[in-house]
Formats: sequence, structure tokens, C-alpha cells
Amino acid sequence: MSMLAAHGGHPTIDLPGPHYRWPTIDADLEHAIIEQTRRSLSERDGRGVIGDFEQAFAAFVGAPHAVSFASGTAAIHAMSRVAGLCPGDAVIAPAYTFLATATPFAFEGVEVRFADADEYGNVTADSLAVQLRPNVRAVIVTHIWGNPCDMTAIAAFCRDHDLLLLEDCSHAHFGSWAGLHVGSLADMAVYSTNQKAITTGEGGMLTMRDRRYRDLALLFGHYNKRCQSEIGPKADYYPFAYTGMGLKHRMHPLAAAIGVHQLKRADDIEQRRREILDRVTASLAANPVITTALVPHQLGRHGLYVIGLRFSPDNATVTRDKFVKLCLAEGATEVDVPGSTRDISAEPLFGRPDPHAPYQHVTVTPPNLPGVRQFQDTFIKIPIWGYPGDNEFVDGYIAALNKVSAAVAA
Ligand SMILES: *Cc1c(COP(=O)(O)O)cnc(C)c1O
Repeated sequence: MSMLAAHGGHPTIDLPGPHYRWPTIDADLEHAIIEQTRRSLSERDGRGVIGDFEQAFAAFVGAPHAVSFASGTAAIHAMSRVAGLCPGDAVIAPAYTFLATATPFAFEGVEVRFADADEYGNVTADSLAVQLRPNVRAVIVTHIWGNPCDMTAIAAFCRDHDLLLLEDCSHAHFGSWAGLHVGSLADMAVYSTNQKAITTGEGGMLTMRDRRYRDLALLFGHYNKRCQSEIGPKADYYPFAYTGMGLKHRMHPLAAAIGVHQLKRADDIEQRRREILDRVTASLAANPVITTALVPHQLGRHGLYVIGLRFSPDNATVTRDKFVKLCLAEGATEVDVPGSTRDISAEPLFGRPDPHAPYQHVTVTPPNLPGVRQFQDTFIKIPIWGYPGDNEFVDGYIAALNKVSAAVAA
């Protein structure tokens, strides 16, 4: 076995950074952006590229309606208001997630109750049930790192307790559970198109089955001309079409143009990313230190955002953090312990007594969430790549992970 780079050996990977670039910028994408620049840089209604992207996105995820937003965070904010959640109401959210799954609810003074995670980092019907209280009106789940939650059980739980089901599908654009695309069972689902599998740079999409929710989503981000042309004049909320509800959260037309371009290639993106996920999984299958952490594919299909890895401390002579340092020394600079996506349950934002005060000093007692701790302490991620020329990264990262694992295996 070759010596670890950290101990004076040669690094496995000697490739210039960055080791992950997304989206792939080819002549075709450049052309699409320039064409849109010539056509229009501001869209007041859904007749141009904004409508094109929304329709393509709705078809992509199999949703009846899709409404675009300037960010996933803005889409979640709209979702909170369209759902009718008010101060005094509560929503149950994952403790382990990207902060924006829950922060817009807190902005609105809605109480956020945090649910524990399973071995994939996801909430379950059981962990949600622990947080049930009389004021809980909705549940939001995240399919964290691309692994789908058990939506059969979670949808049944929400039906039984008369709760709205909201989904944050930002990590799982290509994910499904029991043959249904993620988001299908939800009252509303959000897909950030920030640096996600389908990306627009900045942006977010809200999908729903219900026409009334769709119209209300327009009022919470797309006032005036668009609302006046798309909301039926007989609707009881039509008088708000001119002003909307006070906020504007439109997606930039250039972002939508990038999104349309991405969705035309969605099949290729999916095929290539699945291939890489399968290859990495097979290459680490016999590795006692590190393996991919994937929901069994008979249950659900992975959403193809990143590749999540599970570190087994009992099988290693080093800690998870030391293991990552050794990988970095091998030149695998994208081997990562996530810092932004983590347990958010003790953040002061969620403990403010007055949501309208500019800020208040509060101390939050963190809830006891052993599943979250266990998942977070053993999790590592690497990119899923998925573009021309990515082979040397895939092979290099597999080699680096296996080399470090062999050196530290207990
Ligand atoms: C990226 C992300 C968001 C926020 O979306 P933005 O488009 O960055 O505002 C929300 N939830 C999850 C799980 C995300 O990964």
C-alpha cells in the first residue's frame, strides 16, 4: 500500500481546482443566455421565459402547477403564507436541514418544532409524531442530501392528524418514493434551484396540485400584471391581484433561461449522475470505514444532489474529522463535512418571543435529538459531478477514499 500524502507520500489526486463546477457551461448554454438578454431582462407576466421554465419544471416533477421565485427561501416564505400559518400555529420541521427549510416560518412568528432524524438524516412519521401538539398545523420535510423520506408513512400521518404536508425537495430534484416523484403527495413542495441538481444560479420553484394555492403563490411574489392576467376575475382574492400581498420575489429571466436549458438536458443529467452514484457505491461496498448512505432503491430513488457517505468510527483508528483531513491531503479537496446544513434546532431565531422586534437576545434550550447527533457526527459528502470530463474526478475520489480507508482501518 502506498504511503498517505499526510505522511510524506504522493497525493492521489493532482488536478487543478475547483473539483466541481455546475452547471456545465457550453456554447449552447451561452447562446441561450445571450438570446434571452436580447429578448428581455425583465418579465412582468408568464408569457415569456418565466412561463416556459415553470411549465417545463411542472412537467419534469409531474406537478399540475409550478410558480417560480427569486430563491428557494422566498418560495418557502410564500408557502408559509399560502398555507395560512399564523403566529400561534406550529409547523414540525427537520432539525437536521439547511436553515431555510424552517427560517421563513420563524420570520412569520410561526412556532417551529424540530423532529429527530433516522439513519439517513431524514425525519420519519414516528419522529414527527413526537412533536405533535394541538397547535401544529403543518409538517415540512426535507429529503436530505437526496435520500427520499418515507412519504407513504408521512402522508398517512398528516392525513390522520389533519396537517398540511409541505416538502422541501431542494436536495432531491430527481428523487422518488414508492414510484412517486418527491413532492407528489404534498400540498405544496419547494425546489431551490440555487446550486442544486437543476440550477438557475439563484432561484426556487413552488409546486402544487391546487389551483387556489397556485393563485395565492402568485399573490405572494408576482403582483400586478401577472396576477391580473392569470387569476380569474371571479376568484374571491382577485381584488388583491393589482397589489399582491406586498412582496415581489420574481425570478430573473436569465436564471429562467438557464433553467430551461438545464431541463432540456434533465435525462442526460440524471443518467450520468446515477451512473456515478452507482459506481461510487459499488467501489465502496466492501470498505469497512466509509460507504455510501443510500435509502434502498426498491423503496426510493435518490435525488442526485450530492453523494452522502457514512463513516464507521468503530472500524477506524482515526476520527471522522481526521479521516477527512487525510482525504484533503490526498488532493480530494471536495471531501466535506457540511457546515451550513446541520442541526438548526438551537438557533436563537426560533426562540424569539416577538417576531417583529428587530432582534432580541434569547437563549434556546436545545432539544435532545440523538438521531440527528448520530447522523451528523458520522456524515461526509462528496460531489456527484455528472458532466463531460468528470471521470478523472470520480476515479480519483474513489481511489483517495479507499487509500485513506485502508490506511486507517481498525
Ligand atoms: C438550498 C436550499 C434551500 C434554500 O434555497 P435558496 O434557493 O438558496 O434560497 C432550502 N432548503 C434546502 C434543503 C436547500 O438545500
